[in-house]
Amino acid sequence: MDEEGRAVPEGAVAHALRATEDRFRALVEQSIVGIFLIQDGKVVYANPKFAEIFGYRQEDFAQGGIPLEQLTYEPDLPAVREVVRRELEGDRQGIQATYRGRRKDGTPVDVESHGAPTELSGRPAVIGTLLDITERRRTEHALRESEERYALAARGANDGLWDWDLAANRVYLSPRWKGMLGLAEGDIGNDPEDWLGRVHPDDHARLTADIAAHVEGKTAQLDLEHRIRHADGTWRTMLLRGVAVRDAAGKATRMAGSQTDITERKRAEEKLLHDALHDGLTGLPNRALFMDRVGQAMAFQARRSDYRFAVLMLDVDRFKTVNESLGHAMGDRLLASVAKRVWRCVRPGDTVARLSGDEFAVLLEDYTAAEEPRRVADRIIAEMAPPHDLGGTEVFTSASVGIAVGKPELSKPDDLLRDADVALYRAKDLGRSRYVLYNPSMRTRAREQLQFETDLRRALGRNELRIVFQPIVSLATGAATGCEALVEWQHPTRGRIPPAEFIPMAEETGLIVPIGNWVLRESCKQAKTWAEMRKDAPTVSVNLSARQLLLPEVLDQVRAAIADSGIAPAQLRLEVTESIIMENAGPASLLLTQLKALGVHLLIDDFGTGYSSLSYLHNFRFDTLKIDRSFVSRIDTSQKNVEIIRTILSLARALGMAAVAEGVETEGQAAQLQILKCDSAQGFWFSRGLEGPQFAALLAEGKKWKLPLASGAEMTPDQP
Ligand code: C2E
Ligand code: MG
Ligand code: MG
Repeated sequence: MDEEGRAVPEGAVAHALRATEDRFRALVEQSIVGIFLIQDGKVVYANPKFAEIFGYRQEDFAQGGIPLEQLTYEPDLPAVREVVRRELEGDRQGIQATYRGRRKDGTPVDVESHGAPTELSGRPAVIGTLLDITERRRTEHALRESEERYALAARGANDGLWDWDLAANRVYLSPRWKGMLGLAEGDIGNDPEDWLGRVHPDDHARLTADIAAHVEGKTAQLDLEHRIRHADGTWRTMLLRGVAVRDAAGKATRMAGSQTDITERKRAEEKLLHDALHDGLTGLPNRALFMDRVGQAMAFQARRSDYRFAVLMLDVDRFKTVNESLGHAMGDRLLASVAKRVWRCVRPGDTVARLSGDEFAVLLEDYTAAEEPRRVADRIIAEMAPPHDLGGTEVFTSASVGIAVGKPELSKPDDLLRDADVALYRAKDLGRSRYVLYNPSMRTRAREQLQFETDLRRALGRNELRIVFQPIVSLATGAATGCEALVEWQHPTRGRIPPAEFIPMAEETGLIVPIGNWVLRESCKQAKTWAEMRKDAPTVSVNLSARQLLLPEVLDQVRAAIADSGIAPAQLRLEVTESIIMENAGPASLLLTQLKALGVHLLIDDFGTGYSSLSYLHNFRFDTLKIDRSFVSRIDTSQKNVEIIRTILSLARALGMAAVAEGVETEGQAAQLQILKCDSAQGFWFSRGLEGPQFAALLAEGKKWKLPLASGAEMTPDQP
């Protein structure tokens, strides 16, 4: 049946009709123009080209059609509905419209469509053609823009003008054009080579290629930057613009345009770009640039599996201390010095960056030996060892390094940096001045570490910290003349944790301030109860850590602890390790002097492990020196250690200091110390740390340790 419901002719006529239909169908199916049929607001037929323009398959239109809404870029929908309405009513000449279609993936596509009314199954429909004009639109737009730009450029009084007669191959250069290059009128001829010969060798090929492309009509305009030699021998950066004039056949006959000097702008742009990607202090690439380079290395590795690269993160140990003690200007100098040293450790193609504060990173690229990153890390650590000369002041630092090797399974530069950071954290944990290679188990450790930190924050509030007091025994009388306060942590799940395992973290996190203050106050409070028991009140020694010595509030804390407890200042002693004093000579010295002025005694802890000079010890007027356990532990077996202790003791005496031997574990050691006439001793052989009341009980009973050698007149009477 046809549309009007009449009977369809049979036989030859039908055959002829079908043949015609087949030809038309082939035509439509192969058309490079989109062809469509719309009915009831839907495209019910589309040829392959139409489907392709919209990103569909042709079959998608066969089942029930696709609504116009779905094929139109939303903002243009009202206009398209209006066009279809007019087409349905309009004459057979058809109506043309350009609008934005909507592709299957949602992106817009510029189309031009012609439609005319028709009928399908007796009902009105629109039949039409459709062209994708995206490319045409883009060219039109570019052309308009370039014309505007050219008009603007020509107007600029500063521009030089040029006009090239392509047929005669002669170029006219305006006086201003020549002036821009420091040339007088007669200094340059009108052979184009006179011009192009001055162009920078690196830019020459691109310039001639761009000119050729434009002459051949491949580009809408000529627009490029290049360098050209000025009469004074310097290179100037020019922006060259031009357009060709074409004859009826489209052949370029002339080309004319402008030349703008953009040297300064270029320089400013480059500086801006440089500044945005570099650290001002050290001149090294910053984090942004570093991440970009790591990203590039990753991309490279994805293409070439044998490509090796690694990230080294390094941290300047104790940088904070220097910064806080010697001031930021010195801190800055130190960073610059560190940067220079790291730079010396890598090959020219590698990147050294400053990520933040005292955090540096190195990107090693395309190395061959697998151990190369470790070798570089070793070199960096060694390079850091000599003191930095910061304009007269010598400062010692060291570096910890975390290494992460690039692997194809990592997807983001961030992942690699985080791995290197975890390894760095581990290196610092293990005691600084070393490198650690990342391995996945470390991530778990880092998490545990974080948990540990959280726990420590809560420890004080939950009364999990406690102090034990280890007696310090006179080697002349066997009586406890004092004790050392040692803090420990009763962890709810991990049990007792010794101070060495959490004090460093307390320092790093600043928790040392409240913890240290608590230890001070508690110790003074206990000392007061002992003073009430005995006339010759035993002293209490409290340890101060490195960070505490840099905090001005420590002075007030000590003053308040003494005042609030009501002890005599001399009953309190503060222990400072030798290495701390050396590292923080500046600000620590002021604080130590102020503490001393309060009337408290100062002790040098762990003596013999640092590198203190005699003059220092003298300057600080320490009252007592504690001989490190490492010397004491071997005196029964090593004659050398005996000699060391003998020397230390004579040194102490010469400077008017008393001496305490730490870590006495055997009777033999105690005897040896007695022979050497050491004043007092502390150690497990006498007693471990005791709770406050236990120590009080010991005082109450008037406890005296039985010393290996009978105490007698030969012992030195001056006690610490
Ligand atoms: P230190 O000041 O040198 O303390 C002496 C350490 O030697 C203590 O370790 C003590 O338990 C241990 N010790 C005593 N006698 C012997 C012995 O005969 N043999 C052996 N092998 N060891 C003995 P502890 O309690 O683990 O403290 C370690 C370090 O933690 C202390 O070294 C001190 O520097 C620091 N520390 C302790 N309490 C505090 C505190 O309240 N504040 C600060 N800032 N640091 C503290
Ligand atoms: Mg101590
Ligand atoms: Mg000690």
